[in-house]
Amino acid sequence: MAEAVRTVVVRSVPLPRRAFKVFVELEGMYRNMVEQLVLHAVNNGITKFTRLRAERYREVRSLYPQLPSHYIYTACQDAAERAHSFLKLKRMGRARKPYPEVRNVSIWLDDHLWRAEGLTSISIATHRGRVRVSVELNRHFLRYVNRGWRLASEAKVKLDRRNRRLVFYLTFKKEVSEYRPKAYITVDVNENAEAVLVDSVVYLLETDLSRITLGYYYRKKRVQERYDRVYGPGSRPERKIFKSLRGNERALKREIRQKLAALIVREAARRQAAIVLERLGREPANHMIERIKDPQLRHRIFQAAFKGVQRAIEEKAREYGVPVIYVDPRNTSRVCPIHGAEIVYGRNRHGVCSRGGETWHRDAVACYNLLLRALGGDGGHAPSRVRALVAVDGGPVPLGPTAAHEPAPIARGAWARWRSLGATSDHNDDGERLGTNGRPWRSTW
Ligand SMILES: [Zn+2]
Repeated sequence: MAEAVRTVVVRSVPLPRRAFKVFVELEGMYRNMVEQLVLHAVNNGITKFTRLRAERYREVRSLYPQLPSHYIYTACQDAAERAHSFLKLKRMGRARKPYPEVRNVSIWLDDHLWRAEGLTSISIATHRGRVRVSVELNRHFLRYVNRGWRLASEAKVKLDRRNRRLVFYLTFKKEVSEYRPKAYITVDVNENAEAVLVDSVVYLLETDLSRITLGYYYRKKRVQERYDRVYGPGSRPERKIFKSLRGNERALKREIRQKLAALIVREAARRQAAIVLERLGREPANHMIERIKDPQLRHRIFQAAFKGVQRAIEEKAREYGVPVIYVDPRNTSRVCPIHGAEIVYGRNRHGVCSRGGETWHRDAVACYNLLLRALGGDGGHAPSRVRALVAVDGGPVPLGPTAAHEPAPIARGAWARWRSLGATSDHNDDGERLGTNGRPWRSTW
């Protein structure tokens, strides 16, 4: 059984001043608690909620006797998580400050602190007793309610001061059992594209994720230079522009990742196939982004292009019960999947097999080798039994020496509109998929 988890945002109606003030006070106390707890946790290297609670509960409780006691529990959880991620950053040398700043606060709630009363109101325990607020229903929320998702007991609430609303982050969960895979879909994640092998066709779906990261990086740099000159470093207008750029960048990347994940997972579910991914390391040591010297920028590209895409696929796969398999990614593009011999690469990600002399595209090689590894092939130089069984390129006979294993790149604007990889309108009369050049998809194979 796998558990799928989703967060859904629900807003309250605008609250009267007096009611809203209660939440402003609550947030203030909660923030103070989290600040103190984080300080203690970081000083003592605590990352476990249970230990933090054991060490600090009594004292914090005596400072806020008017608060429902469960706020101290949730503040401990919140603080432990902040301390955990801060200490991790510090270990990796990426923490910029000696202590984590508690800037954005959302109040963590557990089952004692909130409950849904029907679909349209939520009651919250506060230092002034229970307060009930009406919420605005939205389509997103109803969709989860209607599709058999279960509302979890943990929730978060944030204050929207400008509109005097509460913003709830509710968690929905669903248990899904994974099926036994009948086939495999392999995904080779790259900086700017994903190569996907489905039914012996390699699709190269362009994502431009690292180009987007770099583009925003340079835009921010230009803004910084200009504003630093006029207003001095860290000015308000500069921060405002940064914030909006960051928001745009994040939203765009998220949309790309989610669409991509949905497309791949739907294909897998339809075929009852497992998805095969590379096992990525913790650190952005990927050879493709080593050329980027700035460690922060490298980290961001890794997160967006590699980790982020994988995480989106994993998340979507859990929802559909699609099994995900991880294989060792080492040298996946070095060895010919047919002959097991080394491929000699030239320019443009193209290479020639040193034994068969056939041409390969690097991403097609990686996809087939991931498939071989998933099937139990060692991916080494010895011809494996599995290798003979896999119909590379749709047929059991290796290709002639001049054929190119060529995935045609598909631009983001095109695949983002697709509902599936096989059944779209851009097919010719023979039902063949058309490449970006308008020729049948497999004409170059
Ligand atoms: Zn070969």
